[in-house]
Amino acid sequence: SAMARDIAFHIHQQTDLKAHKEQGGTLFTKGDGIHVFDENGKEYIEGMAGLWCASLGFSEKRLAEAAYKQLLQLPYYHTFFGNGHTLATDLAEKLISMAPVKMSKVLFQCSGSECNDAAVKLIWYYHNAIGKPEKKKIIGRERGYHGNTIASVSISGQPHMRAGFDIPLPGFVHTDNPNYYRGHEEGETEEQFSDRMAANLEKLILAEGPETVAAFFGEPVQGGGGALTPPRTYWAKIQAVLKKYDVLFVADEVICGFGRTGNMWGSQTYDLQPDMLSCAKALTASYQPLSALMISEKIYEAMVKQSETHGSFGHGFTYGAHPVACAVALETQKIYEERDIVGHVKAVSPAFLGGLEKFSQHPLVGDVRGVGLIAGVELMADGAKRVPFPAARKVGNLVMAKAADHGLIVRAIGDRIAFTPPLIITEAEIAEMLSRFGKALDDAY
Ligand code: PLP
Repeated sequence: SAMARDIAFHIHQQTDLKAHKEQGGTLFTKGDGIHVFDENGKEYIEGMAGLWCASLGFSEKRLAEAAYKQLLQLPYYHTFFGNGHTLATDLAEKLISMAPVKMSKVLFQCSGSECNDAAVKLIWYYHNAIGKPEKKKIIGRERGYHGNTIASVSISGQPHMRAGFDIPLPGFVHTDNPNYYRGHEEGETEEQFSDRMAANLEKLILAEGPETVAAFFGEPVQGGGGALTPPRTYWAKIQAVLKKYDVLFVADEVICGFGRTGNMWGSQTYDLQPDMLSCAKALTASYQPLSALMISEKIYEAMVKQSETHGSFGHGFTYGAHPVACAVALETQKIYEERDIVGHVKAVSPAFLGGLEKFSQHPLVGDVRGVGLIAGVELMADGAKRVPFPAARKVGNLVMAKAADHGLIVRAIGDRIAFTPPLIITEAEIAEMLSRFGKALDDAY
């Protein structure tokens, strides 16, 4: 069978390899709208849009056609040595016109990981350029997720991605995870909790020495950490601390970018003023691998000046700004505009969040929070008293497995169930998705 051959030859990513070797997994063969089908023909609603990314679902023909057309026209060219192609030009101009704050230039890479990795390099390059070579440390957050290259996973705060890998690299430090529901003290309001988060960030910067701290990376809404929306006033308070100590702010919009939170950018939803912005995933609806790092004029100017010292800007990938990926990204952006995807997310979000909210009454559920079309459901032994299930019971995994039985793909992040359906999901499809989820919760109870 295909599964037997898969087990024989293929290493899966982010997978319990021993369990996979013994039990295998699921192989998918077909997509249709928000649905995917496995090799046995079983249909699933993709409640995660794959990896929080297939914004236009799994059968958008216009993107296939855009890719095919470009493959015939100019299937490959690079952007080294001052050369390039007009698709990268067009896409860069488009992204700068869409940016949530004034941005100057775009650097294209292939993945979110590479994009954040490049951001770290540029931050180091920049501080060398402006004569602050000691200002190099990078702050991430516990349970933050920024990718899996050595630098981007060092920014991340995912314990299972550190274990056994000698991660993080030196010079990468981490501040609190802003999970209000799980982390607040008895009687502490969201605002007070946010004060505490900001005070702890300030303590960390002071302990490291502000003159050594270069940048802070944050996802507007934390994805891999649990589809976790920030508590009220959190971002205003965090940004004030960063400004005070001259720490650059990188908004990682790899999940939030392009409508997920009900605005084009998470930075708009939470009033963020980033110096750099990374995006990927929904940039191409994930039909092609492409990421984009937007940077401010002051950083770009310093980089240009470095040509006097170093000549060439010594960074680049063979496939960065791949023309087929750029063609698909341009078509994706056209579709978002024509279908007013942001307006659509705003319109269906109440059905999504309101429908999930009803599960707060379920005996397995402690808390439900979300924004736009991203939400997390906390599974708790006692929701009111905030008593978690023993980790060993793996209740999240059980709910995820029951959901799959009912034809729904969701993601268990510990005992937090994440939802990020394709942005094109309709209200009727949301109702069906939540009905399947309800059955899964009942089965798991
Ligand atoms: N940043 C965020 C916020 C992400 O969610 C992810 C992937 O899930 C990444 C970066 C890494 O992107 P990629 O998997 O394309 O390298």
